[in-house]
Amino acid sequence: MTASRAARERRAAAEAGPLARVRIDLDAEQQFVYKITCTACTTKKDRPWSAYRPGDDNGFMAAMDRWTFHLVEQHPDAEAPCLAYLPAAQERLHARRG
Ligand SMILES: [Zn+2]
Repeated sequence: MTASRAARERRAAAEAGPLARVRIDLDAEQQFVYKITCTACTTKKDRPWSAYRPGDDNGFMAAMDRWTFHLVEQHPDAEAPCLAYLPAAQERLHARRG
């Protein structure tokens, strides 16, 4: 694992808070793939809930936005640094839909 990948993983894990498990994989084109897994939730298929987004900073932001919305919807009492960016995440969501 490269230093920058490990550093990104630590940064993402710190922002995502204690409920999240963050992993950064490399895809076939050697680009980063961010995966944020919820340690508290499982989906209907009995898999952990996770957000999975490719890309460098774009992927980081997109995965973190998904995770932030998950926290707000499923774990309203949870605390995480990324919740500070909720308004920005909502703006990005509207921008993507618009
Ligand atoms: Zn969850």
